[in-house]
Amino acid sequence: MSEGAAPTPQQSPAPAPAPYRYRGGGVCDCARCSRRGLLGPTVLITVGVVFLAGQLLHSVGFGELWPIILIVIGVVKLLESTASTEGHRG
Ligand SMILES: [Zn+2]
Repeated sequence: MSEGAAPTPQQSPAPAPAPYRYRGGGVCDCARCSRRGLLGPTVLITVGVVFLAGQLLHSVGFGELWPIILIVIGVVKLLESTASTEGHRG
């Protein structure tokens, strides 16, 4: 009469996988690449704000406010160019 399988020797547990971290679709998570990923969402938000302002403030429209989009793009590019590339991959 057997009492079950013999106990197996203790094995060290496998190392836990690194936690998932979203990198904005790229392979690099340095400061410069992270700021580069802000350009698209920032422009979309700005376009939305410009159209909303055109709806709410009937005295101004997209024709008067569109340069704000260029300013926002410039600010994001400036932040991107001054960011550190330490840890940049790719
Ligand atoms: Zn990078």
